[in-house]
Amino acid sequence: MGWANYLGHAEFPKGKLNEVLADKHGTPLTNNALNNHIRHAKGWAMVEAESNRRCLVLPLHRFQKGIGDRTCEEHGIRKVKHWQP
Ligand SMILES: [Zn+2]
Repeated sequence: MGWANYLGHAEFPKGKLNEVLADKHGTPLTNNALNNHIRHAKGWAMVEAESNRRCLVLPLHRFQKGIGDRTCEEHGIRKVKHWQP
């Protein structure tokens, strides 16, 4: 799970996750197959309930060393202004 940002959100361009999870022949998953994968992952608590094809949300208690942004377009999370010293 090397993709998630500081919030534990891992955004994917449309269709990208289908490619990432392609089968052994390199054929991208259909959206239906991908939805099934995500549903199972939610069932196993590997990803949070708000995860979808465009953004996987990792449980933060497993993801305490996040790096990068604290934003997520898919979930409408915008960067808050930081106090600049
Ligand atoms: Zn998100």
